[in-house]
Amino acid sequence: MPKTLARLRTLAFQHQSGRCYYCCCPMWQKSPEAFAATFHLSKRQAHTLQCTAEHLHARVDGGGDFESNIVAACRLCNARRHQRKDARDAIHHKAHVARLMGRKRWHDPWVFEKVLHSGAGR
Ligand SMILES: [Zn+2]
Repeated sequence: MPKTLARLRTLAFQHQSGRCYYCCCPMWQKSPEAFAATFHLSKRQAHTLQCTAEHLHARVDGGGDFESNIVAACRLCNARRHQRKDARDAIHHKAHVARLMGRKRWHDPWVFEKVLHSGAGR
């Protein structure tokens, strides 16, 4: 039986130790409340870091739901990649995100202040 997308997402989440493929931020899968409590976030902030299934080779370009094509990415990284008309491929998107993360500009300041420097949840 083929694995469902939800199952593939969970596998990727575990494989990546719960961190986003692009920005390396911690993500949540099932409990936004617990995540928000751990990092002292609002519901809306926690929503940004929900784990989503990201197709490395996009579905619109024929990329399928199989293990080697699915990574776990936070909602923001996933959405931003695909909101562009000329969506970047995964490798370039990752480099782009890493560059901006280095300048603390990809996510809102609260991510850098509360999630990446809090030491919570590690
Ligand atoms: Zn991300």
